[in-house]
Amino acid sequence: MDIRINLDRLKDDIESLSKIGRDPNGGITRPSFSKADIEAQEWLKEKIKSAGFAVRQDGAGNIFGRLEGKGKTIMAGSHIDSVINGGKFDGPVGVLSALECLRRIKEEGLNPSKPLEVASFTDEEGNLVGDFMGSRAFTGQLNQEILEKDITQFGTPLPEILKGTEFSIKSIMEAHKQRPEIEAFLELHIEQGIVLETENKPIGIVEHIAGKHHKSCSFLGESSHSGTAPLELRHDAFLGLADFALKSTQHVATKHYGSMVTIGRVNARPGVFSVVPGQADFSLDIRSTSKETLEEIEKSLLALAEDVASTRGLNFTSKVVDKTEPVSIPSRIIEIMKEECEKLGYPLMTLPSGAGHDAQILASVADVGMIFIPCLDGISHSPREMIKWEDLEKGANLLLQVILRLAG
Ligand SMILES: [Zn+2]
Repeated sequence: MDIRINLDRLKDDIESLSKIGRDPNGGITRPSFSKADIEAQEWLKEKIKSAGFAVRQDGAGNIFGRLEGKGKTIMAGSHIDSVINGGKFDGPVGVLSALECLRRIKEEGLNPSKPLEVASFTDEEGNLVGDFMGSRAFTGQLNQEILEKDITQFGTPLPEILKGTEFSIKSIMEAHKQRPEIEAFLELHIEQGIVLETENKPIGIVEHIAGKHHKSCSFLGESSHSGTAPLELRHDAFLGLADFALKSTQHVATKHYGSMVTIGRVNARPGVFSVVPGQADFSLDIRSTSKETLEEIEKSLLALAEDVASTRGLNFTSKVVDKTEPVSIPSRIIEIMKEECEKLGYPLMTLPSGAGHDAQILASVADVGMIFIPCLDGISHSPREMIKWEDLEKGANLLLQVILRLAG
């Protein structure tokens, strides 16, 4: 079908949404259920309504716009929440491109046989409790106790943040009951890396989305006086961590190239300059596009930590914080995307996604697909996040063709 999106309108939408939640540092700060996010939610619902679609918001705050049809739904979207001091493209390009696709389909008077929906999922960025709260609520993958008790990064539990809104832990837990049957979920997103830009390709078709094992770990030793405890007799927990950090990175880099290990948070205790650290707490983030590799890396790194601990007279403990499974995009979706992209004449490449996305969570209930467009210098989660509008136009046109193909 020879129709194209209206880039000027899409651009206007992205710019208008980016005015909501502007922070003093020139970025966007729009965590879910904040005042700015509630304003953005109202803005989006109004946009969907004024385009002539039925709006629905579930108990988790996820927003949907629907064009009726028969059979299972073809859904496209992403998220409109942001990290603290983030950019204006991470998330909104997916939601607003999907809305633009539905608008064009409606304007052309096309009557696809299946129902079409634009979707915006709550707290993709994980500002509250774990990440992907909205899509996990939508697919029924949340733990009520964690929602009730965990402390958000704002220092308060989630029930506190929900006060004064129309949402509650109960409504979040029940959101999945309102889910229609979905055949496919499509997400257009900025790459958040430099592969497309380096390869000079405007379109990336995602083949795999990496899974993540996130653990909270500690080396436990013994605090002692930094002036009197002889170096060879110390049980320095921080040195255990330093040793482990180097060896674990070397292990993944040499044995599992392409997979990742990151220690992003470190806390040496008691944290006094004149005391040998008796405890070193840290986060361990392992990522891979293969489930087997992910499990293998976790097993070998835990064994490595035990080994480091025993040579240095320490103890090692770990507990699971969060796990997301890797997802392989179904070949039927990849093939359709490639064919439609070739028809449009846009250069493309296939690539994995190292970052997690809502599509990964939706994979438990539908066939999913992801289209990446380049972001300049790979910068994301920053006010400096930037795209070329002509790349967005190509990405959204491809999304439109794939939606039409799937909708029959
Ligand atoms: Zn995102």
